[in-house]
Amino acid sequence: MTTTAHHRPYFDKLLIANRGEIALRVIRACRLLGIRSVLVHSTADRDSLPVRMADETVCIGGAPSTQSYLNQDAILAAAELTGAQAIHPGYGFLSENAEFAERVEQAGLIFVGPTAANIRQMGDKVAAKQAMLAAGVPCVPGSDGALPADDAAVLALAQQVGLPVIIKAAGGGGGRGMRVVTQQDELLAAVAMTKKEASTAFGNPTVYMERYLQQPRHIEIQVIADNYGNAVHLGERDCSSQRRHQKVIEEAPAPQISADERAKIGQACVNACHQMGYRGVGTFEFLYENGEFFFIEMNTRIQVEHPVTELVTGIDLVAEQIKVAAGEPLSFGQDDIKWTGHAIECRINAEHPFNFMPSAGRIDYCHLPAGNGVRVDSHIESGYRIPTQYDSLIAKLCVHAPTRQQAITKMQAALSELTVTGILTNKALHQAFLADEQFAQGGSSIHYLAEWLAENQANLPMNTTDLPKDGVRIPNT
Ligand code: ADP
Repeated sequence: MTTTAHHRPYFDKLLIANRGEIALRVIRACRLLGIRSVLVHSTADRDSLPVRMADETVCIGGAPSTQSYLNQDAILAAAELTGAQAIHPGYGFLSENAEFAERVEQAGLIFVGPTAANIRQMGDKVAAKQAMLAAGVPCVPGSDGALPADDAAVLALAQQVGLPVIIKAAGGGGGRGMRVVTQQDELLAAVAMTKKEASTAFGNPTVYMERYLQQPRHIEIQVIADNYGNAVHLGERDCSSQRRHQKVIEEAPAPQISADERAKIGQACVNACHQMGYRGVGTFEFLYENGEFFFIEMNTRIQVEHPVTELVTGIDLVAEQIKVAAGEPLSFGQDDIKWTGHAIECRINAEHPFNFMPSAGRIDYCHLPAGNGVRVDSHIESGYRIPTQYDSLIAKLCVHAPTRQQAITKMQAALSELTVTGILTNKALHQAFLADEQFAQGGSSIHYLAEWLAENQANLPMNTTDLPKDGVRIPNT
């Protein structure tokens, strides 16, 4: 791999507008690159590990994220106060807010992400789909844009697409603003309902129609592009193990996807980057069924599951993301990207493993797994109190091994070592699901985890006292 000499200096101070494990991930990349990190935080995160690890910190508001991590004025003021020259939004919060990206650039700072125009375009799913169709990226068959107002036209369209269909809000996100229609006589009411909800929830009543795929897998393509028209894909991730549209386990490469299929869909995404003038990291999400990819949406930011791609490619995606934002050209081309072995990520959440009740509170004792091919991205530690205001992700446990089977074995060993007391985690869910035979075969659909949970309900330990024991004895305190 060739490294290009730095022909422009990095910015030397980066503000991080996020919290938890991703704040820590960005701080680590800053240290690697010799950039000073400024972390803004809420009062609830005052004592957190990322706040203690950052070079500088600014408390910008109260625990509710509207007062802090979504408070654009406070974040911009903190950047000015500290002399930060760039802002990294992480994922969630303001990461896909085009107005914020615009304000950052208007303040003369660098937004570590794509242009506001690209964020806006991909945030409108109808516009995103149209851009993908224009770039030759395969999409789910459906309405070529917003649904017409005319009832007869909507009915005719559904007939042409074929039931079942899914009605989706152009402004939707996070699994909200969607409705599946199986019967023709339910169609118009469903469209009206989705429009109404979309208008209230997203301020945009536009909806569109897609064929509802029955047993798809979720497979996504990671890309990175610089400011000089270079774009590269880093292959795919399989994120089909989901519950209520939330990813639970991710892996790379996707089981049973050939090198040819990867190259073909990867190249389509690279072409789309060129066409859009995309810069930074991004993810093209697809549903995959019967050997075909269907684009559903693009995420214009770093994703939770980026480590599995880092493990199989050896590329530090967050460092590269910061470098391209600083005006560096990509230091690698498509031919430099090689995929080695298999990586799996288990999302460790603070919740009951089988009834999924959130479990906030104080972690009395915490031991995170480590060792050969084991990576943990986490901000938790013994004594840490999990705030109730934010999401339940407390750690990302990743493993890398030569084969998928070996990666599963390694993940089981790592899970058995993970020890978190005082709160509940979903560790036992991962242990049970990774032991499932069908999971071991790979290639299950996005519905499989829910089906498995329903089937095994009677055998799963619902009582907290029956949950598998942790692998580390707790010291007497
Ligand atoms: P969001 O932005 O809310 O996450 P997506 O468009 O990514 O919305 O869709 C979320 C999930 O909804 C998908 O991962 C899939 O489970 C389901 N879904 C979306 N579109 C379809 C479709 N055409 N057929 C089947 N399932 C779909």
